[in-house]
Amino acid sequence: MNCKSVISELSNYLDGELELAAKRQLEQHLVDCQECNLVVNQTKLTVDIFCDSEPVALPPDVQTRLHEALRRKFSEKRT
Ligand SMILES: [Zn+2]
Repeated sequence: MNCKSVISELSNYLDGELELAAKRQLEQHLVDCQECNLVVNQTKLTVDIFCDSEPVALPPDVQTRLHEALRRKFSEKRT
């Protein structure tokens, strides 16, 4: 497996949808190739962050303060 195949199979690999043989080849490549290793780790990290974070709703008081801050900012600009 070369770097190009690793990158093109990366999302399948991270989703666990890669065949065992292909997975083994990919992991073998990661042992030898520092660059791909880095890419996979970074992507893994990003995916983990995405999976863990739920859509964040701002608390009402924060929303109010934010709106006030924005309004102030905009009215400053107008004057
Ligand atoms: Zn590589």
